[in-house]
Amino acid sequence: PRPHPTIRVRPLTCTETRRGDQQVVHSLGDGAVHVSAARHDATFGFSAVFDAGASQEAVFEGSGMRQLVELAIDGFSCTVFAFGQTGSGKTYTLMGPLAQSKTQPASPALLGLMQRSFTCLLEQSRSRGSDLALSASYLEIYNEQVRDLLSPGPPCALPLRWSKTRGFYVENQLSVEFESLEAIVSLLLQVPPPAGSQRRRTSAHALNRHSSRSHALLTIHVRSRAHQPPTWVLQASACPSKQGTLCFVDLAGSERVKETGSSGELSVEANSINRSLLALGHCISLLAKPRGKRTHIPYRDSKLTRLLARSLGGSGITLMVACISPSSRCLSETLSTLHYASRARRVTTRP
Ligand code: ADP
Ligand code: MG
Repeated sequence: PRPHPTIRVRPLTCTETRRGDQQVVHSLGDGAVHVSAARHDATFGFSAVFDAGASQEAVFEGSGMRQLVELAIDGFSCTVFAFGQTGSGKTYTLMGPLAQSKTQPASPALLGLMQRSFTCLLEQSRSRGSDLALSASYLEIYNEQVRDLLSPGPPCALPLRWSKTRGFYVENQLSVEFESLEAIVSLLLQVPPPAGSQRRRTSAHALNRHSSRSHALLTIHVRSRAHQPPTWVLQASACPSKQGTLCFVDLAGSERVKETGSSGELSVEANSINRSLLALGHCISLLAKPRGKRTHIPYRDSKLTRLLARSLGGSGITLMVACISPSSRCLSETLSTLHYASRARRVTTRP
């Protein structure tokens, strides 16, 4: 199976419309995206393209997300990652518009891939009795440090290690069992106690006042418990247990340092982000080479690629959602996101 690069073009925002930005990205149907501007005219092909009119439900059903959830239940490691420049709709696609206030939650129709996947997992879990156990862990990578977003107290860096049996793993990572949508969503948003996505590093800069400057990785562990047969049944007939994972990665903005007008501390942030996205892009393009011609894949080049090593290379199944803005002002970032996604198209994995 190949990672499925899916493109999502968000609508022009009010600000973009007001200042008269041109819409330079158009979906042509059948997975084709056309970018046309003064000196650029290019068409790209993908497995699916969702344009401004596509609902959150259409993205969930049409991107292959539902199948990914089912594969995780079957014991595979599945990853969906959203990337694109700040303000392109990554968080919207994964989580929906975050509630404006705690008392006014977002409408159910606007819930993102995450909540839809949780609902799907919980339904399966309910229909299978207590055979399916769900737990979650939530990490961020900020300035090349891995931090546990679920641990109470100030964020502290956790060591990322490697072992022959486990591959790369984060030491002392917390994981929390959950049995309802409310529980996992409040884990994500962490209305008190303080943790989760409100604690993600955000800093104001030219492109987006609430841009996320960290990569966030939410991993759902799906464990199907072995059936305990009645004692009079021979042990050999017991079902083996399976453990799958479903990982949601909200990557930090992909824009280049010079375009965001960052300086000082912000440019350290921007540089770590760029370096890790570059490492990810590099791994992806090496993985895109035919198996025989493949050289060593430099997963060790960044924390991000280490954490994603399993899903990118070996045994995982990856869904990539590249988010783009249709505005003429975002043209160069849009083209670079589309090129990045095109490279990922050729990666093959063997789950
Ligand atoms: P990112 O996470 O990539 O920085 P966001 O998800 O925060 O970007 O989106 C930026 C803004 O655009 C937000 O105000 C969001 O609500 C809006 N937006 C993004 N995608 C869509 C969409 N498909 N439909 C409507 N609004 C969207
Ligand atoms: Mg975001």
